[in-house]
Amino acid sequence: MTYDPNNVFARILRGEIPCKKVYEDEFVLAFHDINPLAPTHILVIPKGAYVSMNDFTAKASDAEIAALFRTVGRLAAEAGLAEDGWRMLANIGANGHQEVPHLHVHIFGGRKLGHMLP
Ligand code: 5GP
Repeated sequence: MTYDPNNVFARILRGEIPCKKVYEDEFVLAFHDINPLAPTHILVIPKGAYVSMNDFTAKASDAEIAALFRTVGRLAAEAGLAEDGWRMLANIGANGHQEVPHLHVHIFGGRKLGHMLP
């Protein structure tokens, strides 16, 4: 899939749409999901133009990949989720029900989550 530069997260990255920012550095932006499905629901996205884990894992630098996953773990810890547990999730493509075609990792926590079923 080719990257759509006008997807909603690309527009958030360009500052065209506001977000409730949690963290930002040269590689990643993290913000609260607009429709939270748990008491904590944060999205972590790379700043690079990646559609999903498919092109991210194939094309991103080690620094970009490390930044994304270190940020996910650190923000979960900073949100106080580490001890009781939490979930990270990345939907990928049509079968994965991905709605926004810019890679994003969901962080869910703050309550007992349902068991993940396919
Ligand atoms: P997906 O199904 O693609 O994994 O999830 C997309 C997520 O993006 C959804 O949880 C949805 O609520 C969130 N989302 C969609 N549009 C916006 C927006 O404009 N701002 C924020 N903060 N989240 C959004």
